Formats: sequence, structure tokens, C-alpha cells
Amino acid sequence: VSPPPRSTGPAAAPCRLCGAETEHALFVTDRNRGLGSDRFEYRLCRSCGVTSMPSVPENLADYYASDGYGSVGDVEVPRLVEGERQKLELLASHAPGRTMIEIGPGPGMFTRVAQRSGFEVTAIEMDDRYCRELQARLGVRAIQSDAPARTLPELESSATIVMWHVIEHLAEPWEVLRACVSRLEPGGVLALSTPNPQSLQFRMLRRHWAHLDAPRHLQLFPHSTLRSGLERLGLRHLRTTTTDQVGLDCNRLGWEFALRVNPSRHRSNFLTMKGSWWLMKAAAPVEHRRLAGSTYTTVFQLPLARS
Ligand SMILES: [Zn+2]
Repeated sequence: VSPPPRSTGPAAAPCRLCGAETEHALFVTDRNRGLGSDRFEYRLCRSCGVTSMPSVPENLADYYASDGYGSVGDVEVPRLVEGERQKLELLASHAPGRTMIEIGPGPGMFTRVAQRSGFEVTAIEMDDRYCRELQARLGVRAIQSDAPARTLPELESSATIVMWHVIEHLAEPWEVLRACVSRLEPGGVLALSTPNPQSLQFRMLRRHWAHLDAPRHLQLFPHSTLRSGLERLGLRHLRTTTTDQVGLDCNRLGWEFALRVNPSRHRSNFLTMKGSWWLMKAAAPVEHRRLAGSTYTTVFQLPLARS
């Protein structure tokens, strides 16, 4: 008989983001990667609506071991490049210039696509190896930092700032968003993507949902929370989608991981791949409606003259 899993965080705790009262949402272990047996609690804030862990796990670094995000030198897969191109398209026409700060580029798949469209990218990346590769292979100015809120103020202001699937990993997301807004040129564009706690999948799958990715995802923002917070910081909402190619791929992955009994130990087989495809088709009428998809990409702009 194995010992009961350890629980993190007090039984009731204020929201880590806004300090308001929370209610229990769910307990979960690292289902996706199985890097430890700790059990983590997520709580739902009654005020800001964010689903989050009440405190950042002390041993969080253990759950980032053996990452599998690829390498800057990897051969480009046309389908993945197309997904990145669609993301760039969402923001490029609004950008007042061709400078870009990318937070958390990892192996730089999006970075390369942006460079090819003429963007001059500065990267803030926590992984030392990725920083060296981005610099050596792509000629990107890469700053090694796991504290973007402290690094951003040292940079020149930028026409665009992007963070793809980063905000959910940050211990102090609002500090980083505030720093982003302070580094935007007038007319500058901030774009980000993140898992969607109001998605059909999270409502149905809960702790079996791949995009919860506990404990690496410290919080899940409803789009309305992010939007009202960024509007208070002076940004204007431009557009939000859940059905760009990356969003649709995230939907399929969510169903696939739900069908896998133990995703961290067993790869997908023919049945789980086929099953996830059918589930994706069956769910599409609901999942493709606005903001029911498993992740969303959203774009904001700093007005030319601050009102
Ligand atoms: Zn809150």
C-alpha cells in the first residue's frame, strides 16, 4: 500500500492573484508527465474568477525536469510552421513597427516565423540552453531570466510583445502583464495565448484535462478577467480566437490525453488517436463556438494617445 499523496497549500486560502476568498475546485497529480506523486489543489476565486493554486509548490522545479519542448535546431514541420504563421497574422497588421519582445520562446518556432516576416526579436527565456541556441542559430538577442517582470523594465519599448502559453506558468502574472504594458510603444500590440478554464473540455474533463498540466500551470485565466484587467491597464481589446490552427490542435490533444489511461507512461495507440479524432468532430459544434475551445489567443493594443 503506497502512502497517501501529500497535499499542498492550506485547506482554505485566499486567491494568490487578488487576495479574495476562494472555493475548492479540484485535487490533481502530475497526470501528463508523472514526474512526482504530490497532489495539488486548485481553487476558484470568487472575485477574479481565476482557477489557481493557492501557493507556488516549493519543489516546482522537479516538475520541469526532462522537458520535451524540442530544440532550436529541429527540422521545421510545415503544419507547425503554419500554426505559428497564423498566430503572427493575428497581430502583425496592427503592429506599429517591427520590434518584438517574446517571453518564453523555448525552441523558437514562432521566433523563426516572426524573423522571416521582418521582426527583430528580443527573447526573455528561462532556459539557458535555449538562450544560447537562439543566439547562436537565429542571431536573436536572448536574455536568460525567469523573472520577466524584472527584466522587461531594462529593455527598450517595443512595437509588439508576445507570450504563447506562458502566463499560466508565472508566479506573478499581473506583475509581468503590467511590465509588458509599460514596455509597449504607443500603438503597440500585446498578444498571448493560454488554456481556457471556460472551455467545454475543462468543464467536462476536470482533473483529466491535459491543459490543466498540473503543477506547471499555476493559474487559468477566464478571458473576461484578463480582458478587464488589461483594459484597466490602458489596453484596448482587438481580437480573440480559439479556432486558429494551434487552438484546434490543442482541442484534439485534450481529447487524446483524456482517453489515455496513464499519459505519462503509455503512448497513444491507434484507438486513442482514432477516438480523439471522433471526439473532436463530435464536440466541434460546441467547441468552435466563441470561447468554448480549450485554449484562446488574444490580442490587445495600447492606444496611440493614452486617455
Ligand atoms: Zn482572485
